[in-house]
Amino acid sequence: MVRAEGVRKHFGRLEVLKGIDLTVERGQVCCLLGPSGSGKSTFLRCINHLERIDGGRLCVDGEPVGHRRHGDRLHELREREVAERRRDIGMVFQRFNLFPHMTALENITEAPVRVGGTSRADAREQALLLLEEVGLRDRAHHYPAQLSGGQQQRVAIARALAMRPKVMLFDEPTSALDPELVGDVLDVMRRLAADGMTMVVVTHEIGFAREVGDTAVFMDEGVVVEAGDPARVLAEPEQERTRAFLSKVL
Ligand code: ATP
Ligand code: MG
Repeated sequence: MVRAEGVRKHFGRLEVLKGIDLTVERGQVCCLLGPSGSGKSTFLRCINHLERIDGGRLCVDGEPVGHRRHGDRLHELREREVAERRRDIGMVFQRFNLFPHMTALENITEAPVRVGGTSRADAREQALLLLEEVGLRDRAHHYPAQLSGGQQQRVAIARALAMRPKVMLFDEPTSALDPELVGDVLDVMRRLAADGMTMVVVTHEIGFAREVGDTAVFMDEGVVVEAGDPARVLAEPEQERTRAFLSKVL
């Protein structure tokens, strides 16, 4: 579902991604770990068309990100086409970025109605189901400021799911939360994974990575240092850099 081959990205003279190879099969959960500045967020942003790659190949669902195949040539996508592609990709950030002036329900129905062409009634029905799934049916009419951080994050997940994405990207979804609120958000993600969603999750929740992840990928300084079965990578890393990092987060 997501395939990266030699993906490179630089900002000016700073090389942030130095040839990332990574494959996430449909229905799999890939957990990305690594120190601050290693390029994890940049990589997710590349998948989601928020950054352009400078080299290598990156495909989502068989389609090259930012490009359209035409015979054996690639054409750059127009803005409208990029927007269409992005509907297939849900993203949840560290900081809940809900619209503050909209209720939980309105936050979720916004995109399906505005860009998905769903009727308001259908979007509302679907949103209520999603709120039910994330355990917040009774908070439908609350504004973000009236919700805890963990509740806001669960609304953010429901909002991303409302567009029925093919893949969900999570960028440290629990790291801004008070510890007692982390569990509910991880539970929602765990259920999503069990339902077969393809997910790329940047997280330092080692327990989650071990339990839910199909693969764990350790990145440092723009390269994949090691990748594989989370039980092995997280418990018996082969690389010294992975070991050093894990000893700090555990
Ligand atoms: P963290 O764990 O702190 O979130 P990260 O692994 O997500 O780190 P990135 O946010 O991908 O790291 O950043 C990788 C490097 O790229 C950092 O050195 C960062 O300063 C730099 N960087 C990211 N975005 C930009 C940008 N738009 N312009 C210039 N430099 C950037
Ligand atoms: Mg980051």
